[in-house]
Amino acid sequence: MANTQSLPNVQTKLFIDGKWVEGSREKRAVINPATGEELVKISQGGKEEVHQAIEAAKKAFPIWSGMELKERVAIMHKMADLVEENTDRLALIMTLEQGKPFKEAKGEIKTNVDNLHWNAEEARRVYGETIPAPNNHKYEVKKQPVGVVGAITPWNFPSNMIVRKISPAIAAGCTVVLKPAGNTPLSAIALFELFEKAGLPNGVANLVMGRASDIGEVFAESKDIRKLTFTGSTEVGQMLYEQSGKTLKKMSLELGGHAPFIVFKDAPIKQTVDTLVAMKFRNNGQACTAPNRIFVEEAIKKEFTETLVEAVEKVTVGNGLDDVMVGPLINEDARETIDAQIADAKEKGAEVLIGGGRLNEGEYEKGFFYQPTVLDKVTTEMDIFYNETFGPVIPLIGFTNEEEVIELANDSVFGLASYVFTKDMRIAEKISTALEYGMVGVNNTGVSQSEAPFGGVKYSGLGRENGKYGVEEFMEVKFVHTTYF
Ligand code: ADP
Repeated sequence: MANTQSLPNVQTKLFIDGKWVEGSREKRAVINPATGEELVKISQGGKEEVHQAIEAAKKAFPIWSGMELKERVAIMHKMADLVEENTDRLALIMTLEQGKPFKEAKGEIKTNVDNLHWNAEEARRVYGETIPAPNNHKYEVKKQPVGVVGAITPWNFPSNMIVRKISPAIAAGCTVVLKPAGNTPLSAIALFELFEKAGLPNGVANLVMGRASDIGEVFAESKDIRKLTFTGSTEVGQMLYEQSGKTLKKMSLELGGHAPFIVFKDAPIKQTVDTLVAMKFRNNGQACTAPNRIFVEEAIKKEFTETLVEAVEKVTVGNGLDDVMVGPLINEDARETIDAQIADAKEKGAEVLIGGGRLNEGEYEKGFFYQPTVLDKVTTEMDIFYNETFGPVIPLIGFTNEEEVIELANDSVFGLASYVFTKDMRIAEKISTALEYGMVGVNNTGVSQSEAPFGGVKYSGLGRENGKYGVEEFMEVKFVHTTYF
């Protein structure tokens, strides 16, 4: 694909109660991070529009939750089918506004399709319970949708983060108001166009763009929003949790991560390096599950490091519409954060084995590109050891025994994804039990699956997405005790 492709025709407005409406605030430009160019200006709403969207969702709730289950499920499968048919269009829009390679963007749309079908089916498996009770009594547990959901999503997976929230919510029978990230509203809009086409009733899913703090505040303070689901930084998650205290709503928070990637001496080096490189450079390291601290057993560290540097040399960077492995970072702030982490590490004794700076010249001149980087001799003195790296930097740390590496890996406020590579199942079992993380990949990095719970502990958040757990997050449990006269 040539990198001159332009933005397909796409809505630029808010979507409230089944209508595309102009927002009352000044429009906001969407920038292509590979070229620095403006793609389009997007309508922005204020608090009034958020209230209108909540009202629409409230009105739609009895209709949607009361709809014949088969009909609800059919609409969701139709949504999945339309997303699948429009894979190229959705992926192109994503690459243009977010920067990730087109092939990767297509992968994200494929995940959407899988999530939508899976959650559609899960709607049929929201089982209640009967509990043994005294004679003439019945103890019954019913599961019921919580009501209106507020959802806030980030820019790094601008399409799937939305589907991952909306599909279990509507499967449960909830209605939703979504605020996408300011940098990437087009992926949200393009999905909503398809949801409308699929026949999702008015008000079931509403889309509001606008100032994040205004929308967050209305969501948090609204008594009608019974559940707030957020993916983003720990800082904003903590603030939303606090703001929501007064209205005591259910919360799901998918926050930052700082994944350890632990390699024992018996792991196959080439295969492990390839897995690391694929996961680390996915989305240019801008993922909360990105391996961020690579612990390698000293016995193989030299060979592992050489193999890694050779692999990183081959990583191609460029406009995501070209055939490259890695696109730009999302914006200039992202480059500054990475510059600062590398400078701090170097000052404290880290060695740059490859990369270590920005890509600024020629085809890279206008975008937010960065060199794929490997840092050796990283220690706990350095900022990069403790703070999330949202970029293409691989920090290496040596270790000599199991206890030491468990302690180092758990020395983090975060607890989202973690990875361990070994052929020794005793070690794998021991480490995966000891890691204070919500997810562990043993000899793989596939921690995000439609069927399985995704989420973290500690400062990485609350609640789980995906799997049966994902739908349960949008349900209340009701106990009904019946006595027979
Ligand atoms: P990231 O580092 O991924 O951009 P953020 O937490 O800043 O993480 O952003 C994630 C989402 O949270 C985005 O949709 C963003 O607009 C939104 N957001 C940022 N600040 C606030 C806020 N004060 N209240 C509610 N949402 C916010």
